[in-house]
Amino acid sequence: MNNPCLFCRIINGEIPAEKLYEDEEIFAFRDISPQAPTHFLVIPKKHLSGPGAMASEDETLIGKVVRIGAQLARENGVEQCRLVMNNGAEAGQTVFHLHLHVLGGRAMSWPPG
Ligand code: AMP
Ligand code: ZN
Repeated sequence: MNNPCLFCRIINGEIPAEKLYEDEEIFAFRDISPQAPTHFLVIPKKHLSGPGAMASEDETLIGKVVRIGAQLARENGVEQCRLVMNNGAEAGQTVFHLHLHVLGGRAMSWPPG
């Protein structure tokens, strides 16, 4: 059956992606439109539309998303990085499957646009 969610389709292998990491709960792949020398996404395999859809039972899973994100950054030569989750269209979310952006390899400014 066709899953309409882009990131669920990437997890299922229906859409190709440059995978960095996978285990039974988590998938990580390079962003198709990188905004920094290193820019990848870490997602739970469980479909959640965004941080606002989390239940307390998801806290451990999303904590693991963050831990794996920082670990993968280190393994890819990026000690300092920005970890971002956009929550809602006005916040810049365009794909409604919860994802952590991991960006690094350049100096960052604040606030983000
Ligand atoms: P957001 O705007 O926070 O929802 O982030 C969605 C991200 O997904 C953007 O940075 C896009 O560049 C990225 N993206 C969209 N389609 C793909 C794809 N097929 N493979 C990898 N990254 C993608
Ligand atoms: Zn999904």
